[in-house]
Amino acid sequence: MLSIGIDIGGTKILGALVDQDGNVLEQIRVPSPAKNADLMIAEVAGLALALMDKADSKVSGIGIAAAGFIDAGQSTVLYSPNLSWRNEPLRERLEHAISHPIVIENDANAAGWAEYRFGAGRGSKNMVMLTLGTGVGGAVVLDGAIRRGGFGIAGELGHIRVVREGLQCGCGRRGCVEQYASGTALLLAARELASSGNQLGGFLASLPREGAELSGRDVQKALENKDPGTLGLLATVGHYLGEAMGTITATFDPEVYVIGGGLSEAGDLLLDPIRRSFLSELPARGFRPEAQIFAAAFSNQAGVIGAADLARESLR
Ligand SMILES: [Zn+2]
Repeated sequence: MLSIGIDIGGTKILGALVDQDGNVLEQIRVPSPAKNADLMIAEVAGLALALMDKADSKVSGIGIAAAGFIDAGQSTVLYSPNLSWRNEPLRERLEHAISHPIVIENDANAAGWAEYRFGAGRGSKNMVMLTLGTGVGGAVVLDGAIRRGGFGIAGELGHIRVVREGLQCGCGRRGCVEQYASGTALLLAARELASSGNQLGGFLASLPREGAELSGRDVQKALENKDPGTLGLLATVGHYLGEAMGTITATFDPEVYVIGGGLSEAGDLLLDPIRRSFLSELPARGFRPEAQIFAAAFSNQAGVIGAADLARESLR
């Protein structure tokens, strides 16, 4: 039986028809009207109806992944940093527009669920996913279920503090791991190194075109060239993430960590420093089994695959 997953982001909405094994059969991508809540409902409803049309058989469920805080009842988006939603009754409005039951889930949780069911976390019972992108997203799966907490907002692992009195975070605190281990943090560190005059930043400084700022793609290129300065920055990312993971293990004791987001494409260049730091930060090391750390299997499609599967599960 097929189900539909729709991932609503700040720049695009991705919708997909997904089978029970997590394979994407059809997908549609449209620009996101991030600043217009009414237009957003119309776009998402239109996408869902278009995908239902494409399905030969009846669709078993529709799951929505959205960037933001979803309430414990999984019906209202309490807050979304990049979209115009404030206490938006998303489920009710979409069900009214599509005349079909809807499931909504935080986007990091949906991506984590996709990895747990069909990707790098497959076969585990307890998995934590960390997504290194604009920020650091988290998803916690314990005993085979996503843990959402009392108010729906559990698993915001990017806001674990790793530096006392550290960098200011968008959440209002200081020193959160997202300020040190996100894709954004790596890019800012690379720009700083490139403009420092330090020899280690020489290769980075040579990459942007005249007058242009160092971009994420430049950083990627530096990593492909195994530039020592950039590898050093990646090791720092790994160091801070591993420290947060020591805290996460003290709390949840997962068997598997899955590292996703754009940075995870660096593979072992990133995972090796994470593993080193994690082991040095592991409480009671030597007296307990050590969690495995894998790169995510899915990239851009994780949200739609997870949301579609959660919709199917909810009808069971
Ligand atoms: Zn924070």
